[in-house]
Amino acid sequence: MNKEKFIEELLKLHIEISDIQLKKLEKYYEILERENKLYNLTSITEKESVFLKHFYDSLTIVKIIDLNEGTLCDLGTGAGFPGMVLKIIFPNLKITLIDATLKKCNFLEKVIKELKLENIKVINARVEEYAKIEREKYDIVTARAVAPLKHLLEYGIPLLKVNGTFVAMKGNINEELNGIENYENKLKIKQNKRIDFQLPIENSNRTLISFIKLEVTNNKYPRKYTEIKKKSL
Ligand code: SAH
Repeated sequence: MNKEKFIEELLKLHIEISDIQLKKLEKYYEILERENKLYNLTSITEKESVFLKHFYDSLTIVKIIDLNEGTLCDLGTGAGFPGMVLKIIFPNLKITLIDATLKKCNFLEKVIKELKLENIKVINARVEEYAKIEREKYDIVTARAVAPLKHLLEYGIPLLKVNGTFVAMKGNINEELNGIENYENKLKIKQNKRIDFQLPIENSNRTLISFIKLEVTNNKYPRKYTEIKKKSL
């Protein structure tokens, strides 16, 4: 996706990107390209592909939720998707990026420093550990392409405030919804919206799905990772 097409497609999402924001994304791309040679952070490296499959794709989240303010936690952010891109475009958000991999966290710290971003922090932890301590704190929790939806709900819902929104960004979701009612009942959440669409240019399928948290989460969630993997709720 070239620069003109990127700007045009963002306008369709009602995002009017400024020159400064565009320069920040260009710089982010340069750092990613530079560091990727050393640390293998993403398999997508060609500039137009990064703009489409990482930057634009991250911003499609606005199809399902308003992002002008509040606290947002991005689980398994990897090289910063969607969380870092959201910080650049929606600077009023207070963002926490979490990833279990140290080299990715070090990369994210470099981007924050070089782009001089504020109100954004990086946590090097497994989400299921973080969710044991930082409970009921965030307005929004996001995850793009990290784990099965049910695992994400069990990790992510405890982090949310009551009335907060969880958003999963997925390529394909249908079979992941089997038995989701048990998760809604036990985690006290309700599916809110689902939006299916295709990425421009390459037309691959995407699904955005959101859940609202209705009540404080029972302390027994999340369970240990071995249990989460072994048995559904
Ligand atoms: N969200 C990014 C990265 C996806 S790859 C993107 O869409 O490009 C998945 C990432 O999640 C990896 O970086 C991995 O380290 C991280 N991850 C997976 N399970 C995790 C867990 N339980 N806790 C923290 N990070 C996790």
